[in-house]
Amino acid sequence: MERIYNFSAGPAVLPEEVLQQARDEMLDWHGSGMSVMEMSHRGKEFMSIAAKAEADLRELAGIPQNYKVLFLSGGASAQFAMVPMNLLRGKKSANYINTGQWSKKAIQEAKKYCTVNVAASSEDANFTYVPPQETWNLDPDAAYLHYTPNETIGGVEFNWVPDLLNGKTDMPLVADISSTFMSRPLDVSRFGLIYAGAQKNVGPAGLCIVIVRDDLLGHTIAGTPTMFDYKIHADNDSMYNTPPTYPMYICGLVLEWLKKRGGLKAMEETNITKANLLYELLDATDFYHCPVAKPDRSRMNVPFTLKNAALDDEFLKQARTRGLIQLKGHRSVGGMRASIYNAMPLEGVKVLVEFMKEFASHHA
Ligand SMILES: *Cc1c(COP(=O)(O)O)cnc(C)c1O
Repeated sequence: MERIYNFSAGPAVLPEEVLQQARDEMLDWHGSGMSVMEMSHRGKEFMSIAAKAEADLRELAGIPQNYKVLFLSGGASAQFAMVPMNLLRGKKSANYINTGQWSKKAIQEAKKYCTVNVAASSEDANFTYVPPQETWNLDPDAAYLHYTPNETIGGVEFNWVPDLLNGKTDMPLVADISSTFMSRPLDVSRFGLIYAGAQKNVGPAGLCIVIVRDDLLGHTIAGTPTMFDYKIHADNDSMYNTPPTYPMYICGLVLEWLKKRGGLKAMEETNITKANLLYELLDATDFYHCPVAKPDRSRMNVPFTLKNAALDDEFLKQARTRGLIQLKGHRSVGGMRASIYNAMPLEGVKVLVEFMKEFASHHA
């Protein structure tokens, strides 16, 4: 058996050790005589798996006691509606920062429930930068501010957290942190709510993790479906209905793996090394080009184009023969994209960079 280097944006590569452990425990989890997939979500075995995953997440991310951790289904996309339904709290508007395709989707959905004030946008430059906070036009009466710390498609990442608690406002900060979650240290106390689809950095598809400050619970708008009410999930420890049990178990294994690797600070260091390798190559040649402004380049998703787009297919074909797959860019951006989440080994990025150098020298 040979594993390939998978640069998919999501569902994405998982740590090999995690997959091996899941394999070993597939038929008989810890002497229970059954697979995690077959367990009652209310049985003591699965309850212990869920409790361990939450405890590890709290420890790794330093989540304060007044925040709830929810394990939900419906993907990050369901959050685009759940956020306004739960957080408007009688207000009529919400602030959104528009930095790419995922921000746009969140904005479109929020418009069904409130007036959206797009406080800043980088659409004027095809979403290749983060608008500096001095240029934002926040509505001070809005219920919250929503932004996307890492735009998975455009490869644009905030290297800073918006400063809303600076005495001026108590407006909660809300973040769709799907594709950068657990890739770097995070100060949860700066946020009212953060959410992340698991399939980018922490597990399989089908699970979305929500971390929410408890004073924000219990204020849904009229007509909110029971399943879209954070308080219902919080009051029932994410077991109001059957949660995505197997993805939660795998996520738990990924969190254990993260702890063994030294936690978020250590992860961040490796991620910086990996990203620098790629960006240094992109900047050293004019054969490749990265459209994103330097300070705002993502450590997780690295988009780039070839000077001659006619070579795109050949590039992808040859990459595949080296065991490098899923490098095609998103249809809305074109070119290439290498997603290098936590589980992508440094070695994988080195192999990619070597291949890219070689390809450039053969086609210059
Ligand atoms: C992938 C992604 C989503 C959508 O996640 P689903 O689980 O498919 O709903 C939303 N936001 C960001 C930033 C993403 O990367």
